[in-house]
Amino acid sequence: MDKKRALLELKQDLESRKDIPLIKTADDVVFGDGNPDAKIMFIGEAAGYHESVQHRPFVGQAGILLTKTLQETLGLKREEVYISNVVKTRPPDNRDPLPEEIEAFRPYLDKEIEIIQPRIIVTLGRFSMAKFIPGVTISTVHGQPRFVDFQGVRYIVFPMYHPAAALRGTTLLNAFKADFVKLKNFLQPASDVPVASTPQKEDNGGQLSLI
Ligand code: URA
Repeated sequence: MDKKRALLELKQDLESRKDIPLIKTADDVVFGDGNPDAKIMFIGEAAGYHESVQHRPFVGQAGILLTKTLQETLGLKREEVYISNVVKTRPPDNRDPLPEEIEAFRPYLDKEIEIIQPRIIVTLGRFSMAKFIPGVTISTVHGQPRFVDFQGVRYIVFPMYHPAAALRGTTLLNAFKADFVKLKNFLQPASDVPVASTPQKEDNGGQLSLI
């Protein structure tokens, strides 16, 4: 089955679930969006108001910043990468997702990753970071890529601040933009940016094409 079809079936399966917290109707679901063959996958936290209205992840103010920075720094349109969330609905009043909500949506995010097979997973904020790099704080590890073995596959996980946090102040905005520049440098063919627990030099993504 091709990736597009597999993603559509996964979305339809989620939309039919009545036993998952925060899903009352199919309309509540904000599924991942973008290029099924993307080498880079961005994972945020949960949908917000605009996402719940438009049924697409990252289309509000945080999404506008993400899309602009993607274009300006990496030269990529959002359609060229894949963007998703840990929780694929909008929590009431945009509160933080609860552990049981993260757990209920986990199989869907895991399957999405399995279908997309990205080389690099960029985590946006602490909830998606904690999925791959537990027990750390974002302020100490943002912008530092590392290898993570997940579901039998070795991914490069690149933790970043959430763009909504970046919109709250200059310090985090500068860090967010600087991390995008690091990601760009990391993607250059001759990159010598170290990856934590690097087993092999050639594993650092140096030959990556972006899309
Ligand atoms: N914040 C997120 O984490 N995801 C979205 O889709 C929008 C805002």
